[in-house]
Amino acid sequence: MPARTGEQFLRGLKDDREVWVGGERVRSIVDHPALSGAAHALAEVFDLQHRYPDDCLMPDPETGEPINVSHMIPKSREDLLQRHRGLERVAEFSVGLMGRTPDYMNVTYAGFAGRFDEWAVKGNEEGAANLVRYQKKLAREDISLTHTIVHSTVDLGKGKVPIGFDPVQLHKVENTSNGILVRGSRVLATLAPFADELAVYPGTPMPNAGDVHALSFCIPMDTPGLKFICRDSVAVNTNRYEHPLSSRFDEQDAFVIFDDVEVPRERLFIDANLEAYNTVMKTSWWANIMQQTMIRAQIKLEFAWGMATRMAETINSAGQPPTQQMLGEIAMYAEFTRASIYAAEQAAREIGNGMWSCEGRPLAALRAALPTWFPRVNEIVRLIGSHNLLTTPARGALEDEALRPLIDKYLRGAGVDAEQRSRLFRLAWDFTGTALGSRNEQYERFYLGSAGRNLITLQALTAADRGRANRLLDRFLLEEWDEGQDSAAGRLASAAS
Ligand SMILES: Cc1cc2nc3c(=O)[nH]c(=O)nc-3n(C[C@H](O)[C@H](O)[C@H](O)COP(=O)(O)OP(=O)(O)OC[C@H]3O[C@@H](n4cnc5c(N)ncnc54)[C@H](O)[C@@H]3O)c2cc1C
Repeated sequence: MPARTGEQFLRGLKDDREVWVGGERVRSIVDHPALSGAAHALAEVFDLQHRYPDDCLMPDPETGEPINVSHMIPKSREDLLQRHRGLERVAEFSVGLMGRTPDYMNVTYAGFAGRFDEWAVKGNEEGAANLVRYQKKLAREDISLTHTIVHSTVDLGKGKVPIGFDPVQLHKVENTSNGILVRGSRVLATLAPFADELAVYPGTPMPNAGDVHALSFCIPMDTPGLKFICRDSVAVNTNRYEHPLSSRFDEQDAFVIFDDVEVPRERLFIDANLEAYNTVMKTSWWANIMQQTMIRAQIKLEFAWGMATRMAETINSAGQPPTQQMLGEIAMYAEFTRASIYAAEQAAREIGNGMWSCEGRPLAALRAALPTWFPRVNEIVRLIGSHNLLTTPARGALEDEALRPLIDKYLRGAGVDAEQRSRLFRLAWDFTGTALGSRNEQYERFYLGSAGRNLITLQALTAADRGRANRLLDRFLLEEWDEGQDSAAGRLASAAS
């Protein structure tokens, strides 16, 4: 079943998975009021690839059947640019509000398979072969993946990764006749209710963990023993006019419990092998995935800039210097993001095994900046919008025959009728002020690590290439510099005499 349609995707969600939302075990993902809107939005994402096949589809390199370009293992800069167009289509659909549409994991697994040699180390050859086979299945069956790579937080005083054996964290219990039995917990599976399978792979290295924690695998969502506890829903089950974003784009986040779960042998990519676990993510993962995440970020920033500008025009404040400055600030973030992606793609290169990837540095800089830029963007939208974000009559009020003429008279904008004005400010409030807006701000602050953690990563990455910085600096720290200065002073003195 290559490149699925939305209807095929929705049919795939009908299984016996154990998903809990708001204290209730969900019986039907597609029909549940907290999940239905996003399920149908994601179905539209699957349909997109058939609406824009030139951008979104490519022939499977072995079967020739159409698969999504996010499954591509890029072999040139042109491949990366083709993938860019497909990723952009998906990002535009939710204006970047759904961070974990299936293309995110598709790109991740294409990167893993492209550098399977990095997985075939320290005795993990069988795991690497399983991974390559699985990636083909992922692409050909157009599977939607959720993932959980972060350890549950109990006592940060002991660090963020297990030391020795920690029974709270996901671990291998024993071998079984078909594979292995695992137990424990992990955070935080975004998209869980809308996934076909769950992926586990290394997050940060665990230098002192027991081997039993060093695991990577993919298993179906309805595997017995898997339990997903979702956060409270931020979906709002009204009409699209009232909640244009939260009626559709709550992608959900779930805490995952592995209550004695069997992982079949052919689905194991790392089986209690700490050395392999601690090395596989070192080079290929993140510059590869960062292309997807930063394209999404760029789309979201451009949307925010357009929306904030339109808000200012609607109340005729766009000409005021404070407003212009704030709009210019969002434009600056959007432009830096666009330019960094462009730079990263232009400087793309082969990273081994014939696979191409973007240059990591500009994307690492963005990764460190965006967790602070996005909250500031939300602040600007709220500053420009002020009380107007809250003077937005509901559909029922607009449809009331007695009230409507009064709303039309008193709630107009500058050259904009009351309904358009309300539509715009509702959109802005849903983007920043509703439960969805708040969850999305939390997402941007943390989904790839906090700003602080990402700054540390950037410093480590750039420290490896200090050649020019050292040269510029050392000029001023050498004795020759002092002598040069003395002779310059001498020349000045003799010229004056
Ligand atoms: C909405 C949302 C969706 C997510 N979706 C997924 C998902 O689908 N799959 C998944 O596996 N994970 C997911 N995550 C989890 C995400 O991977 C983690 O939040 C991320 O790795 C950051 O880790 P952390 O939350 O422990 O925060 P940290 O990065 O540890 O930051 C927590 C606090 O510690 C501070 N801090 C960080 N580093 C240091 C330091 N070195 N010294 C001092 N202080 C420091 C930070 O400033 C911050 O205040 C999601 C998270 C969120 C919020």
